[in-house]
Amino acid sequence: MTEKSYHIITFGCQMNVHDSQWLARALTARSFVEAPLEDAQVVIVNTCSVREKPEQKVMSALGRIRQVTGGSPHVLVAVTGCVAQQVGAAFFEKEAQVRLVAGSDGIANAPAAIERLLAEPELRLSLLDFSSSYLEREPGADGPCGPVAHVNIMQGCDNFCTYCIVPFTRGRQKSRMSAAILDECRLRIAQGAREICLLGQNVNAFGRDGHGDGLSFARLLHQVAGLPGLRRLRFVTPHPKDMSPQDIAAFAELPQLCPRLHLPLQAGSDSVLKRMHRRYDSAAFLDLVSRLREARPDLALSTDLIVGFPGETEADFQATLDMMRACGFMSSFSFCYSDRPGARAALFPDKIAPVIQQDRLLRLQALQEELGQQWLQARTGTETSLLLEGRSPKARMDTTDPPALTSWQGRDPYGVPVHVYLPEHADHTGRMLSVRITNAKKHSLQADALEAPW
Ligand code: SF4
Repeated sequence: MTEKSYHIITFGCQMNVHDSQWLARALTARSFVEAPLEDAQVVIVNTCSVREKPEQKVMSALGRIRQVTGGSPHVLVAVTGCVAQQVGAAFFEKEAQVRLVAGSDGIANAPAAIERLLAEPELRLSLLDFSSSYLEREPGADGPCGPVAHVNIMQGCDNFCTYCIVPFTRGRQKSRMSAAILDECRLRIAQGAREICLLGQNVNAFGRDGHGDGLSFARLLHQVAGLPGLRRLRFVTPHPKDMSPQDIAAFAELPQLCPRLHLPLQAGSDSVLKRMHRRYDSAAFLDLVSRLREARPDLALSTDLIVGFPGETEADFQATLDMMRACGFMSSFSFCYSDRPGARAALFPDKIAPVIQQDRLLRLQALQEELGQQWLQARTGTETSLLLEGRSPKARMDTTDPPALTSWQGRDPYGVPVHVYLPEHADHTGRMLSVRITNAKKHSLQADALEAPW
């Protein structure tokens, strides 16, 4: 075991990935070093309650940690995030190695708590209180940032969709002060970011909760887009009911705002949407899509979909397929509904049998494959720009000796991975490159460079 070393295991969404990256920076600033699980003195399990059987997944991760570390009492295990918020101090009884439990707001104080726990081996700490406003975090270690930076603009959610546990695990919505957001964006750009993605559970309700300084989401977009050095701006996740005319207009007004929007539909049937407490119907969603496409004709849409919500009939399910066709989603995340203890829908009658849910999910995903392929195929022959992120994960090397070209991966403005052959000798990470799309693969594109990036 290496003294002052850490290992982080992350479950779940982009917000959790972002929290784990911050924990790593904060620990690095306190002179910790990253280590493989078998060598780490501190192991953090950053948990998520959105997917199925979240507590079981955490317990199985804790079991694996015990196995790899031999259950050593010198290894400090911390459970953070949504499942920590839900299960709380009961984790101390479930697994002896756990000495810190930090919920969604408690993460901000987790690095200091870890230092204290290392100094006081008999102590256990739980950080489970929700704060009354957005908790600013220490900046963490300085250092280069990748070409894409994620910046939190809020915490929590006020919507209480009936299937979702987030308002209970991440707390009520708290907007961050816009000056702090802009400062972090400036820092990330100075560290090398060319693209910023603004993060939150319901980003377009930013500024409406009385916790920040009241700046609207559209104004925030304008201010971030105007930062020198920023080439691309994205955000995730918006709620359809909160999309203001000013948010829509931003797609026409801001060239930095990418023409890709992840807009969760969840279901196409009005009665299911009502039971989900989504507070829009299919007509309102279609109207929103048409206003967005008027503002930005090349806008590509992706979405989230739940199949087999309690009481969903075959006709309800067909309405979801109809909406997918009408909106032409380029991609979607789709899941079978399952109960989240504490969420209202867990008490709803008429649960759908798993076999029917699975059948519907397969049909929905087959349609999505078709729509996704059509969208990708239509891109071949077009010219676009890439932000290069690094060598392609499965880089096919040029077979010439010595190799002259390597496959690089970048993202186009729609967020699609695009592979392009570039000279081997240089590091192209963070560069913008004009390309022509030559070929559509299953979930990515191949392109030729139209200029020399070196
Ligand atoms: S908007 Fe609904 S689904 Fe999204 S986090 Fe809030 S409650 Fe959950």
